[in-house]
Amino acid sequence: MRATVGPDGNGTALRHLPIVYHPEYVTRLPDGHRFPMPKFRRVYELLCSEGIATERNVYRPEAAGRELLSLVHSERYLREFLDGSLPASALRRIGLPWSEALTRRTRRAVGGTLLTARLALRHGLACNVAGGTHHAHPEFGSGFCIFNDLAVAARALLAEGRVRRVLIVDLDVHQGDGTAAAFLDEPAVFTFSMHCESNFPFRKVDGDLDIGLANGLGDEAYIERLQQILPGLLETQRPELVLYDAGADVHQADRLGRLMLTNRGLFERDRYVIELCRTAGVPVAAVIGGGYDQDLDALADRHCMLHRAACEVVRRAAGLDERSTHSQAPHKTRVGDSSTIVEQRGQSAHNGGHDSLSFCSRRRDRSR
Ligand SMILES: [Zn+2]
Repeated sequence: MRATVGPDGNGTALRHLPIVYHPEYVTRLPDGHRFPMPKFRRVYELLCSEGIATERNVYRPEAAGRELLSLVHSERYLREFLDGSLPASALRRIGLPWSEALTRRTRRAVGGTLLTARLALRHGLACNVAGGTHHAHPEFGSGFCIFNDLAVAARALLAEGRVRRVLIVDLDVHQGDGTAAAFLDEPAVFTFSMHCESNFPFRKVDGDLDIGLANGLGDEAYIERLQQILPGLLETQRPELVLYDAGADVHQADRLGRLMLTNRGLFERDRYVIELCRTAGVPVAAVIGGGYDQDLDALADRHCMLHRAACEVVRRAAGLDERSTHSQAPHKTRVGDSSTIVEQRGQSAHNGGHDSLSFCSRRRDRSR
């Protein structure tokens, strides 16, 4: 297994955890809509309250433009969605009511995953507070997914020559059918999806590796299965970037999932994936993926396992001990005040590492 990081920042120490967020990640849906749109803000607020997201490590993405989106999506689908002329049947398949604000939200979230991937190439690891819209196909949207952020990010970085091989690790409870469809004939991108077989989408699209799990699998068996697969994939595929969809809908309390992972299992899964990739020297860009619950606090807590696990990996990589980190007071970000968010993109953010690190030792026990 390789011991250096991909095309940029080879071998750089992992000392900074970029978090990507934008207030436009949340847009208003009709009261009672079953998609838990407010969760994105709730996740961000929780990350701020725990000191994971601070004024020094939060990055705001640009909205993805039409040219970028057309790397994956057909001109007709883009035109019809963006100008609001998508047929009713196509909107029903998406499951979200069209609005101008929704188009902005969608473009912003795709831009967020691309920025997360760029930051991962620079720093070794980065996490979005949205993303994972893996049911979006090139010609249509589906299952609350409009544009495929993972596919757009991979296509953009390949087109720029920033990477030559990308591995998509999709651990959402639902199969990544849209992502598989986007890369059917693309040898530079390997799509791996491990999901609940009897769950949506019922007509799956074959990716490069699909593992359909039985209902009710719990923490131990789930992680054991992952451990049987992922090391070999990194070894054989030799990716220069991993795009990780850390879907929280594998949780036992998820409304739409049928697996039985606990909070602890989620944390261990995410930490395992990130740590394994980092040990192999592969940058990881992680997105939060699916998660469905009426209890937004419980749901946000589940999604935050990803960012907590990422911080744990940063802390371990930096080799910090408790004593040295306790002396660093974390910066506080005023929640909801975008003026406190640093808008650096891709450079001059290295000094933010201390914020990530000080958090990492403070909140280690929360995931236990
Ligand atoms: Zn899902």
